Amino acid sequence: MGASPMLEYAFFEGRIVPFADARISVGTHAVQYGTGAFAGIRGYLDADGETINIFRLPEHAARLLNSAKLLRATLPFTRETLARTIVDLVEKNAPTGDVYIRPFVYKSSVQLTPRLTGLDNELAVYMLQLGDYLDTAAGVKAAVSSWQRVADNAIPGRGKLSGAYINSALAKDEAEEKGADEAILLDQHGHVAEGSGCNLFLVRDGALVTAPITGDILEGITRRTMIQFARDEGIPVEERDIDRSELYIVDEAFFCGTGVQIAPITSIDGRPVGDGIPGPITLKIREIFFDTVRGRNPDYAHFLTKVRAKVASAAD
Ligand code: PMP
Repeated sequence: MGASPMLEYAFFEGRIVPFADARISVGTHAVQYGTGAFAGIRGYLDADGETINIFRLPEHAARLLNSAKLLRATLPFTRETLARTIVDLVEKNAPTGDVYIRPFVYKSSVQLTPRLTGLDNELAVYMLQLGDYLDTAAGVKAAVSSWQRVADNAIPGRGKLSGAYINSALAKDEAEEKGADEAILLDQHGHVAEGSGCNLFLVRDGALVTAPITGDILEGITRRTMIQFARDEGIPVEERDIDRSELYIVDEAFFCGTGVQIAPITSIDGRPVGDGIPGPITLKIREIFFDTVRGRNPDYAHFLTKVRAKVASAAD
C-alpha cells in the first residue's frame, strides 16, 4: 500500500501504547508460519469535517472473530468489545482525515511446531492515514493470473488469514509485471474468484454478476454492500460461477473492497471492458458508496460508526 503515515497509538497486549512500542519477537509463531488473521477497516472523514465514519465496524469485528475461529484462536473479546476497542483507539489517535484500521489476531507464542492449538493468541490494532489504493475514477487494468486462488480446503480464503496472502502477493506482482494494476485469480475449476485484495463484479445485460461465497473468495463486506445497493436500486444480482471467457464479453466490471473501495476495470488481459471507460451501473454504485461513507446518504447511515475527528485548526 506504499508509504503511509502511521498514527501515533496502537492497541497491543491489552492496552493502548505508542505504535513504536508494539513489537514482537522474530520467533513469534505468526511471523514464522503466517498464523495470524487480520481485518482492514476504513474510517472516512464525514462531509461535516468533524466526524470519522467507520464503515461497517460490527461486520468487520464479526468477520475477524470468524477468522480467529478458523485459527482456533480464543480471545477475550466479543464483537461488541472488539468494536469498542477499535473505537477507543480511533478516539485516542484523533485523526484529521481518512484512516485505515488494521486489527490483527495472531499466534503470539515462540514455538517451533506449525500447529494451531496450545499456543497463545493476541490482538493488536494499528491505524494509518490512507487515501485511494487503486484508481477509483479513471479505472484500472486487470490481468488474469496464472496463480490459482488458494482453495478452501488448502487455506480457507473466506477468512483473512495472513499466510494466505502469499497467494495474493504472487498474483499482484505478476499482474503489475504484465503492466496491469490488479490480478483476477481463478479457482481450481477455472472459475473466476476475485482480485488479490478485492472482490470482483461484472455487469452483463443490466445485471450484476459475482462469484458465490463458496467460490474460494473472501466473504467481502464491501461485496455484501454492493449487492445491497444494487438490489435497492432494482438492479438484479447473480451470485454464480463465472467462466473466464465471460470476462472478455462483459459490459462493465469493477473491483471492490475496503482498501480498493470501488475501482472500475477498463481492460482485462488487454481487451477493453465495454467501451473501455467506467460504465453507468459501476458509476451509480460508486456514487452511492461514496455518498454513504461521507455521511451524505441517510438511507445507509446505519453502516457508519461515528467518532469525533480532530478538527484541523488554522494553525495546523
Ligand atoms: N478479497 C480479498 C482477498 C481481500 O483481501 C479483500 C480485502 N479485505 C477483499 C476481498 C474485500 O473484502 P472487504 O470488502 O471486506 O474489505
